[in-house]
Amino acid sequence: MRIPMSSPDITEAEVDAVLDVLRGTHLSIGPRIREFEEAVAALVGVREAVGVASGTVGLHLGILAAGVRDDDIVITSPFSFVASANVALYERAIPVFVDVDQRTGNVDPSLVAQAVSDLQHGGSAADRWLPPCLQRNARPRGRVRALLPVHVFGQPCDMDPLLETAQTFDLYVIEDACEAIGAEYKGRKAGGLGDAGVFAFYPNKQMTTGEGGMIVTRRDEWSALLASLRNQGRDIFDGWLTHSRLGFNYRLDEMSAALGVAQLRRLDELLEKRARVAGWYNDALSDESLLQLPVLASTTTRMSWFVYVVRVASPGDRDRLILQLERQGIPARPYFSPIHLQPFYRERFGYQDGQYPVTEDLGRRSLALPFSSVMTESQVDEVCRAVRRALRETVQTETLVAPQR
Ligand SMILES: *Cc1c(COP(=O)(O)O)cnc(C)c1O
Repeated sequence: MRIPMSSPDITEAEVDAVLDVLRGTHLSIGPRIREFEEAVAALVGVREAVGVASGTVGLHLGILAAGVRDDDIVITSPFSFVASANVALYERAIPVFVDVDQRTGNVDPSLVAQAVSDLQHGGSAADRWLPPCLQRNARPRGRVRALLPVHVFGQPCDMDPLLETAQTFDLYVIEDACEAIGAEYKGRKAGGLGDAGVFAFYPNKQMTTGEGGMIVTRRDEWSALLASLRNQGRDIFDGWLTHSRLGFNYRLDEMSAALGVAQLRRLDELLEKRARVAGWYNDALSDESLLQLPVLASTTTRMSWFVYVVRVASPGDRDRLILQLERQGIPARPYFSPIHLQPFYRERFGYQDGQYPVTEDLGRRSLALPFSSVMTESQVDEVCRAVRRALRETVQTETLVAPQR
């Protein structure tokens, strides 16, 4: 493909930073990880950050810190990357999905409040929210322990009502901010609003460390716990072969941390470049009546553009559009594919089409276009010309094959 779906944005500063580590003696647990953690904590405005091997394991540590255990319920979004629900399963808890706001694709706070209330009361009202396999006699015995809202595509969820629900029902809030570093909700940083927030630095994210992630927390008592869980259950005062609890090797190495420090220094630049690319797309496609462009909520005071996702009118159009674009050498992807409809969620929980209509509708009509901070205006134009051409062809095909009435 001439124009890639995404690309990292690496300069000589990043190359030098990584080489510097390689020329030294500490390849893991050295000074770079601490520097990276302090920089992310400062960015988000929290005291503590713990660098980890990926966004997924950061979310797992959040689930552990929240004390989520067997048969507990974690409320989250079905319109997300699969990891945000899987982390509840890692602790034998149950991710319970709540449908999303159709404008932003973020979890609907009023549905979350209703779900928590019904689930806490138990009884038949709970069944509306539970997966088919866990209704009636099979209802989980644990309690709702945590909310795990996902800031989809770099736009913060409507956090105030979610935090209020958490307060009312005594729940922890773990923000999946893996797509939202630098984003702001009513002037407050995404990831710093709940008990913990998690960022991810896979190469397609706004900034990268190769593989890597970071969990931040406002809770002083969680920071030592998170650091210990990441490092095989060692406490700071433990010896190398003393393990106070069941832990993991979820550490981030020094090469990745050095890359992270260098990328973070450029975060404003990276986010501005991405916003500019999104602006080019908006301008080029705003008069295209066959597409719906991304919508920003009034609570989003800073968007951290992760992907550029558009919607078409009907599902058939979306898949034909992707094929037509592929033929023109332009990649595009369905995004997201709902979690509850993933093969192993269907199998394990009995999910079927229709349970989360808004999520499923977005899942069928959305596609991500090529997007990165290194895209040029002429590349965006090329994609948009291909999109328009493909739309015309798609619509024509549809008219041709449509049954006569
Ligand atoms: C990228 C991402 C993750 C996981 O990050 P990894 O570093 O790939 O483990 C989790 N949740 C969401 C919403 C993501 O986009």
